[in-house]
Amino acid sequence: MATKSNKFAQGKYAWGICDICGIRYKLTGLRETTIRQRRTGLLSCPTCWDPDHAQNFLDRFVVADAQALRRARPDTGKYQSRILRPPGNWINGRPPDPEQQAREMAELRAAAWKSKAMAEAEANAWLRGHQEGVRS
Ligand SMILES: [Zn+2]
Repeated sequence: MATKSNKFAQGKYAWGICDICGIRYKLTGLRETTIRQRRTGLLSCPTCWDPDHAQNFLDRFVVADAQALRRARPDTGKYQSRILRPPGNWINGRPPDPEQQAREMAELRAAAWKSKAMAEAEANAWLRGHQEGVRS
């Protein structure tokens, strides 16, 4: 009478090859990788094995990711924000001299006026376009 046998051998002395890096490793030490909890069929060594990344399941938790702002306002400080060094900054380890500081403050005031004018012009252009769109 035949003795009962398993379908597969235990393989405790068998070697396997990591499907990610190709290094020989004990077959029983290789782990199967998954993506979104689905088996990929790849066996990887403990070094290469990564758990299923949390961002793979993002759509299960984040349903809507709103981008638009309620009650948004135009950026009026756009020009000033593009100035590389504001007045009063130390340059090359030396404090700013009062004359230079005054000159730069004047430049900044002019820039503020210019950016306000630019914002108004943009708003007027938008309004004009909107009114023309309503009319036609
Ligand atoms: Zn590996």
